[in-house]
Amino acid sequence: MAKAHILGFPRIGAQRELKFAVESFWRGDTGLAALQETGKTLRQRHWAIQAEAGLDYVAVGDFAWYDQVLNTLALLGAVPTRFKFDPERLTLADYFTLARGNPEHFAMEMTKWFDTNYHYLVPEFTADISFDGGVDWLFEENAEAVALGHATKVTLVGPLSLLYLGKIKSGIANKLDILPKVIAGYQKVLQRLQDAGVEWVQIDEPILALELDAAWRAAFEPTYQALSVGAPKLLLATYFDQVREHSVLLRSLPVAGVHLDLVRGAGQLPGFLQDWPSERVLSAGVVDGRNIWRTDLDSALTLLQPLQASLGERLWISASCSLLHVPVDLAHENKLDAELKGWLAFATQKVAEITALKRALNGEAKAVEAQFTAAALAVAARKISPRIHNPLVQKRLRQIDLIPATRNNVFAERIVKQQARFKLPAFPTTNIGSFPQTADIRQTRAQYKRGEIGHLDYLNRMREEVRLVVQKQEEIGLDVLVHGEPERNDMVEYFGEQLWGYAFTANGWVQSYGSRCVKPPFIYGDVYRPEAMTVGWSQFAQSLTSKPMKGMLTGPVTMLQWSFVRDDQPREQTALQIALALRDEVVDLEKAGIGMIQIDEPAFREGLPLKAVDWPHYLDWAVKAFRISACGVQDDTQIHTHMCYSEFNDILPWIAAMDADVITIETSRSDMELLDGFGEFEYPNDIGPGVYDIHSPRVPKVEEMQRLLRKARGVIPDQRLWVNPDCGLKTRGWPETTTALENMVLAARTLREEV
Ligand code: GLN
Ligand code: ZN
Repeated sequence: MAKAHILGFPRIGAQRELKFAVESFWRGDTGLAALQETGKTLRQRHWAIQAEAGLDYVAVGDFAWYDQVLNTLALLGAVPTRFKFDPERLTLADYFTLARGNPEHFAMEMTKWFDTNYHYLVPEFTADISFDGGVDWLFEENAEAVALGHATKVTLVGPLSLLYLGKIKSGIANKLDILPKVIAGYQKVLQRLQDAGVEWVQIDEPILALELDAAWRAAFEPTYQALSVGAPKLLLATYFDQVREHSVLLRSLPVAGVHLDLVRGAGQLPGFLQDWPSERVLSAGVVDGRNIWRTDLDSALTLLQPLQASLGERLWISASCSLLHVPVDLAHENKLDAELKGWLAFATQKVAEITALKRALNGEAKAVEAQFTAAALAVAARKISPRIHNPLVQKRLRQIDLIPATRNNVFAERIVKQQARFKLPAFPTTNIGSFPQTADIRQTRAQYKRGEIGHLDYLNRMREEVRLVVQKQEEIGLDVLVHGEPERNDMVEYFGEQLWGYAFTANGWVQSYGSRCVKPPFIYGDVYRPEAMTVGWSQFAQSLTSKPMKGMLTGPVTMLQWSFVRDDQPREQTALQIALALRDEVVDLEKAGIGMIQIDEPAFREGLPLKAVDWPHYLDWAVKAFRISACGVQDDTQIHTHMCYSEFNDILPWIAAMDADVITIETSRSDMELLDGFGEFEYPNDIGPGVYDIHSPRVPKVEEMQRLLRKARGVIPDQRLWVNPDCGLKTRGWPETTTALENMVLAARTLREEV
């Protein structure tokens, strides 16, 4: 009989209970006992969902107060030593200090978990780091689940992934040098789990989906040899991509089972089935853990049936990866219409899909017939729904090659015309877009959403904000102005709400990091722009000033990357549809007299596939999508783009290929070092390296910004250099914003005198 399990359940709670409990604890409004109670309640509830649906094991170890990597470090006793905490006596308050820092210690670094929007805390390795044991939380949670009568499978971040994802801070030449210590730490944990009667431990090694070098590949065999002794049965989990190149390794490792992502790595199955060792479990991740679509149960069953014939009870059925990356429960969606809702499955529904598949395989097809029929109807209806297919959009997409994806002339010619038109001083100053979203703005928006104030009232109040922002910028003396984006709650949501093919959930929260959650929209159909989206705002803002006013749009890759996307067509097609809609908007802005248009692409880099071999294909269509949106304008219309903090050096040719007239990037936190690559590459177009960090209320001094700008002048020709903050100012307050921008303008002015 096939078994059913999941790699992990979202911990945050369907109503974000964990978020609110943790934040209340941080504020000191509630104590430790209340927080622990919430954690316990959530674990119980999530285990109950899994057990009642009929999974064979509930997942233990997927719960974390902040992050699963930090939990693993706390478990092993391997928390950064600079905090000087006793690893065995680490309190929950200490744990949060690691994650958030305090006046004496900066927080641990945070970075994206593979290609997801989840952020983990980066392990810090120093010569004095130990793995001798830490907190007992995992053992207690397992006991908790067992006491509730559940069969448990404990999940752990694997030793090699933990090591790979961490950073050497000092005293270690090579990360693999400390592998013996790491192994010893995991052995202790596994031994304790074995003593506690745990039958299965799932060890996640997502790094197997990356292109590992020989040393890392070679480390797997000895590591798992050492871990398999005196331990519970190990299920080695891979996900986020196919791991075909490791198929020999994964067949030979001394583990009791392997999990494969059969959604992202759909084609990899045959390569593994050949000579799959008898006795070894194969866990088939057939339900998409990264997206919100209802599973086509019939197709999944067709895929699983031959597997069951050859593997029998060694076949486990699961989602492709942990369900951490999808919202908790569709039942809380009261705003979506029945048709759309019928196409979706969140974590709770996915658990039910997994067990339905298991029961169908195990001779209970009759009992789950209704579920299969409903899924089949929904899948069939979605395929032919007129809400998905827009012939107009499809026709335009088919003819996309007829649409010019280059500007009329090269940058060198365009910039001359733009300079003649705008007559900007050297080192022009500007902003990235948003200005402080004050409590007043947020309250007005909330009132509008609740229907307490009417549309015109709302518009008028937001226009007042725009007026204020324009006036402020003129007083401060900025050269190129922005309208401040008060009417936007979120840079994707704002556009998604005006485009066909996008939908929004009421409660589809997904953990981003710590207590932070995001509610990504989902793209279900052909994207179409029924009417202009920003022209009125930009025109109004421009009417208030004689300085150039930048139109402000979110780019196609970011619109895609920060949404759940269609699974019935390649990502690039959706991106190109969005690009076409944006192109129309750009042209409309130009027609309305807006001379500068910024198309933000902060998510451009994070769209890169996990494997470098897949990069060129992605970069080609991502650049094309940007150019489709940007290239409908005349030479003297200036196209800007903006990207946030990320490494650009390895993709500079593609960034240059986007051919934006001006790119603004986040550079202050790297002390301008990110700019060096642009210099070496001789990046041809204008560039505005951020001169101050907008993530903190700290006001940078004039001299600091001058220093950064002088550094920038060493790398970028003067006539190409702009002056701006790192990113939008939406999270800042007014007083610090005003002073910081005044200082920035002063820094630019003194620089002008230096030339
Ligand atoms: N224009 C946006 C803003 O200023 C850009 C935000 C971003 O890059 N994440 O808020
Ligand atoms: Zn930014």
